[in-house]
Amino acid sequence: MSKPHFTIKNKFQKRSEQYEDILTRDILGDVCYRITGKRAFTVTFDNTGYNIGRLATLEYNGAINYISFSEFEIGSRNSFFQSFPSALVKYYQDNNPNKSIYFYFLAPNGNIETDYFIFMYRLMKTAGTIFLNETGYLTFVTKPFNAVSDIIAQRDLNRGRNKGNASSYVTIDENGTLQIFGKTYGANKYETTLLSLAIYEITPYSMELYEIQEGNLKKLPRDARDVIKSLGINVITSDLSFEKAEFENSDSLRSPTYLYNLLEKLGEKKCSLCDCEIPQLIQGAHVWPVASIKRTNNISLDTKIANAIDGDNGLWLCNNHHKLFDINVLYITPQGRLKFKKSIEQGHEKYLRDFTINNYLPIDIMTPGFNRYLARRNKLLDEKQYSFV
Ligand SMILES: [Zn+2]
Repeated sequence: MSKPHFTIKNKFQKRSEQYEDILTRDILGDVCYRITGKRAFTVTFDNTGYNIGRLATLEYNGAINYISFSEFEIGSRNSFFQSFPSALVKYYQDNNPNKSIYFYFLAPNGNIETDYFIFMYRLMKTAGTIFLNETGYLTFVTKPFNAVSDIIAQRDLNRGRNKGNASSYVTIDENGTLQIFGKTYGANKYETTLLSLAIYEITPYSMELYEIQEGNLKKLPRDARDVIKSLGINVITSDLSFEKAEFENSDSLRSPTYLYNLLEKLGEKKCSLCDCEIPQLIQGAHVWPVASIKRTNNISLDTKIANAIDGDNGLWLCNNHHKLFDINVLYITPQGRLKFKKSIEQGHEKYLRDFTINNYLPIDIMTPGFNRYLARRNKLLDEKQYSFV
């Protein structure tokens, strides 16, 4: 039986990152022993291309082991994690059924136990990654996520402390399809890739990944995209032409960018009027209705679309409240207070009163942009036909 054999693409961008200097025999010996139980190994440094994912492979007994090494410098949180998803993609591309993926800390310099780092370690483990030497570097052992709801809850916790940093959202639509909305620009693409592959391992739902355009980049890197698609995940690119077609063909506007913007502004799906949080029952409701935007004469098509997908032009409502809002049984005053139509039957009004918990919209919805859309909506209605709840 031959010895375990490492293959390491050596050429890296900086001279200081030549792997022949970094991956000493001691380090490789440690990796080899932890994976195979053997101390002796052979190694090839391959100088033909860039090392993607700070990656080495170790072949032994017909098995292929992928090992992604951490960065030394923590830098920004995204630079620490940007190479791992590329390694994971390479691992997924390998057809050998006897394959494993590992992560190895290389004496990182800085705090590697922030909430975000721990969140990312847990995603990596959820995606099947084995940490080879975490006990030397982390003060506790992180666990993989068991359920998507855990990922969302943990994510929201991080988001609360770190607003504006999150780039991707996870939710479930009315048909029970799990939807990931991910940006494709800069470091966001790495997070979107890792999130998709981790969720794939634990969700019972069928999955859709929406690539939300930002800057000029519409799509994930091709390798990542191909791997995600090969798992049966439906990948949809949401760019302006997609939104345009959707806007022109439908008054209900099933726009991924609109949903993304609502998630970004309002957080997870939750009916503003009854607090229902069952995602299959929650929809994005337009304040200034799409049909009314379409009928407006003095603005360009691009402006119309911008208004239709603006996160300020909406709120989360359950099916029932959405329907009642659309047919103008409900009215919202500029102060965010709810009114019911006076002409509603008494028996129906009692039912409506019983399942409507909130008589005011949450204060964080009532931005100046929201109020502008509300004014456009209310212009078409007669407030005198409504009374306070
Ligand atoms: Zn509701």
